[in-house]
Amino acid sequence: MNINNPTANQETHFFGDVCKNFDYAAQFTKHDAGLLDQIKSCNSVYRFRFPIRKGNGFEVIDAWRVEHSHHQSPTKGGIRYSEMVNEDEVMALAALMTYKCAIVNVPFGGAKGGIKINPKNYTVGELENITRRYTVELIKKNFIGPSIDVPAPDYGSGEREMSWIADTYATMNPGQLDALGAVTGKPIALHGIAGRREATGRGVAIAVRECVSVAEDMDKVGLTTGLSGKKIIVQGLGNVGYYSAKFLSEFGALIVGICEFEGAIYNPDGLDVEAVFQHRKSTGSILGYAGAKQEFKNTMDGMEQPCDILVPAALENQITVENVRNIKAKIIAEGANGPTSPEAEAIFYQNGGIIIPDMYANAGGVTVSYFEWLKNLSHVAFGRMNRRFEENSNLNLVNMVEGITGISLTPIQRATIVKGASELELVNSGLEDTMIRSYHEIREIYKSNPAIGTLRNAAMVGAINKIAVSYQNLGVWP
Ligand code: NAD
Repeated sequence: MNINNPTANQETHFFGDVCKNFDYAAQFTKHDAGLLDQIKSCNSVYRFRFPIRKGNGFEVIDAWRVEHSHHQSPTKGGIRYSEMVNEDEVMALAALMTYKCAIVNVPFGGAKGGIKINPKNYTVGELENITRRYTVELIKKNFIGPSIDVPAPDYGSGEREMSWIADTYATMNPGQLDALGAVTGKPIALHGIAGRREATGRGVAIAVRECVSVAEDMDKVGLTTGLSGKKIIVQGLGNVGYYSAKFLSEFGALIVGICEFEGAIYNPDGLDVEAVFQHRKSTGSILGYAGAKQEFKNTMDGMEQPCDILVPAALENQITVENVRNIKAKIIAEGANGPTSPEAEAIFYQNGGIIIPDMYANAGGVTVSYFEWLKNLSHVAFGRMNRRFEENSNLNLVNMVEGITGISLTPIQRATIVKGASELELVNSGLEDTMIRSYHEIREIYKSNPAIGTLRNAAMVGAINKIAVSYQNLGVWP
């Protein structure tokens, strides 16, 4: 590797692809070129390097934080821990965050972070040092804070890393009342929110359920409506993939294939997602799972097996011109960010398929992060103030109806009607509402003009219009 320019050989076109999508969609809006340029550009790109102690010496770590758009504050986006991460990728992911937040009406600008390491090569102590030092570097440059820029988990990071970030930020900002709102995706015990861990996957499952509920669209792709019995292949059994598979099977679909780093497994009669997950946890691989009828050494071979719906939930650039024609699915639901190249998307649509785009499909995570941030700013769990009040009101109502009608409810019926909402129920209901409304908003735009062509373009048209209104209202100063 070239130490002075470690990304020299790893330039990608991810940000270019996002901008191409933007430029196409922009034709269907009425904004002037300067405003469109402002929306599309990455406002701040901070690239930095810092040392950690490794053995008897130092190791230098490459890192980024990109704030794509400040039309809303704070900016928001996950931190990716990956040895593949580079500036182009972080810029692309930050831009997608801006559009994603606009699509689901979450009042944040987009941001993203990257730390160029393979977490598997570091001890827990070293990962903690890296995470805390990364946070300190952001604090030094004013790139983090509950009203400035709020990180979250992404590929390779989770609740543990978010705890270290929260603790570092709070320690460096003693007395700041809202300090824990500087990062989301925290564990519940550290003022995280119920339902955040599974939110992205739950959102993906709701997005797919919504898509297959529209008869007109299903007729076009040659599928029946409803999730019941639909065959689904999922790539990636991490946070997004595991929970997408779990909720899709709870909604009645059959998970027939799971593709991971080490290979893929397939069973046309369905796989038990939880059992596969536990098998991987104990053996380190999905391969060797007794319930599989076929195994493949290559993750890509698994994605090409017969199914109705494919959920790529690992990394970008997985479906390209090389393999798109071999994919049997009629619907691709993008759990990951950027899994389908623009050329592959065009071919997939030409062949009669439909793609539920990343910037909508995986927006469940940022939606519930927004709820967590609100919880942190209000310093009270959702439901705490009104749950008992609701239960008492419901009870009075039930007693009154029973008295008037002379009909008594069973204890189970009574408990179900009377019960007030828990934090988890409120979060899930807010998430479901957001995903359902946003899908139909995007679909309306998609149907409004055949030239828009894809749900991705439609989502982008909607996002551009909302962001443009914010910039126009803000004006320019100084
Ligand atoms: P994760 O680290 O929890 O899981 C990723 C999984 O993908 C791992 O199990 C890994 O082994 C697997 N994987 C890696 N390379 C693979 C390959 N070539 N083939 C098959 N599997 C492979 O990460 P995550 O949080 O689930 O993120 C996955 C994707 O979803 C990323 O694109 C991320 O940006 C996006 N995303 C995540 C969230 C979130 O809340 N975590 C929100 C929105 C979008």
